[in-house]
Amino acid sequence: MSGRGRKKKPMYTFDEYLDMATTMHRGCLCPGQVLGTRMALLGCRLLGIDPPDREKRLFVFVEMDRCFADAIAAVSGCRLGKRTLKHVDYGKAACTFYDDRTRRAVRIVARDDSRDRVVLYAPPGLEKYEAQAHAYRVMPEEELFMVQEVMVEIPRQDRPGRPVSRVVCAECGEGINDRREVRLNGRVLCRACAHGSYYESFSARCLVTTTREEELTPC
Ligand SMILES: [Zn+2]
Ligand SMILES: [Zn+2]
Repeated sequence: MSGRGRKKKPMYTFDEYLDMATTMHRGCLCPGQVLGTRMALLGCRLLGIDPPDREKRLFVFVEMDRCFADAIAAVSGCRLGKRTLKHVDYGKAACTFYDDRTRRAVRIVARDDSRDRVVLYAPPGLEKYEAQAHAYRVMPEEELFMVQEVMVEIPRQDRPGRPVSRVVCAECGEGINDRREVRLNGRVLCRACAHGSYYESFSARCLVTTTREEELTPC
């Protein structure tokens, strides 16, 4: 760790961070990768964290599952499978960066009016997305983002580590981790059985083959 007050040298250059984002986005360098890279770098800088976070201090709540979310994951190092990246489906180009060590959090929103300023920062003649990608790279942070300090609590059942509970749904028989179950009329149900699911089942029969005849009967 560097001494207090000494300015830390960034681990990577902006272009290296952008490369990580582009790689995660299947090689596509779209405006969302530039925007997301800048947003993640700003969030980390405001919290005093070197991205990608290797100390497991950082959690990111990403409010939209579009292009920029890949850059947020790539640059911050936070991952869905590590429970450090949370998708909160608000449909907004916004993220909250939370430092579990200091318990500080900042929420950063991409400004809608930054699109109107693209012409001021991109050379003329570029195609729309190229112009946006170019402009988002150089546009001052205050023209790209709004930042607010917020409070975030991460309950035990949302944290990395072993599941805090596991129960079985009384309707479908599937296991449910981390207190995601619902109690309805005295029964313990999964959210799909309690509130309806995003999928519709064609049949109750399992499609994977098994040698045991009894397992082929509808479950
Ligand atoms: Zn994209
Ligand atoms: Zn169920």
